Amino acid sequence: MLYIALFGPPGAGKGTQAAKIAGKYHLYHLSTGDILRAEIANGSTLGLLASGIINRGELLSDEVVMALVEHAIDTSVNTGGILLDGFPRTVKQAEMLDAYLHACGKQGLDALLSIEVDREELARRMLKRAAIEGRVDDTEEVIRNRFAEYDAKTSQVAAYYREQGKCIPVDGNKNVEEVFQTITAIIDGLK
Ligand code: AMP
Repeated sequence: MLYIALFGPPGAGKGTQAAKIAGKYHLYHLSTGDILRAEIANGSTLGLLASGIINRGELLSDEVVMALVEHAIDTSVNTGGILLDGFPRTVKQAEMLDAYLHACGKQGLDALLSIEVDREELARRMLKRAAIEGRVDDTEEVIRNRFAEYDAKTSQVAAYYREQGKCIPVDGNKNVEEVFQTITAIIDGLK
């Protein structure tokens, strides 16, 4: 079983790449953002809690998100592994994920693929996505908050895995196919 996390700032292309990678390697695409948006669409209690937080561009509590991830991994069947997208987003989440994987007899993540994109390019992509998908968390103010959360809490996750020798940088400024080819070369090397 492969355990890979796709990492990067908002607009880096994690969701797009994750869908392609999951298809090619038969991995379970575990997107915490997608799970939360489904909860909101279902009108669940968690969805109600999540909608306000997401609409402000803030992060949900580590414990709540970890519980979702554990449940998703525990109930996943017939996969070649797990592809995490949008998780871990804080060092605390990374530590909780490590503890959980160790308890399952795994040596933590196999790799954190860190998609690196220039800020100007990111802003351009986010505004384009806002126009196309109309995500409520893609307004200018919310986008600013999402970057602030990324800088304050999420960016340190890369350093956490770098210390473990597991953070692999990926140049995300190129087009979708070129980035995908870079990533597949890395994953083929892991297997
Ligand atoms: P995403 O689709 O990954 O960009 O996530 C959309 C929003 O869901 C984020 O801006 C957060 O509000 C929330 N969210 C998703 N994943 C996490 C996470 N790992 N920790 C905390 N909040 C999260």
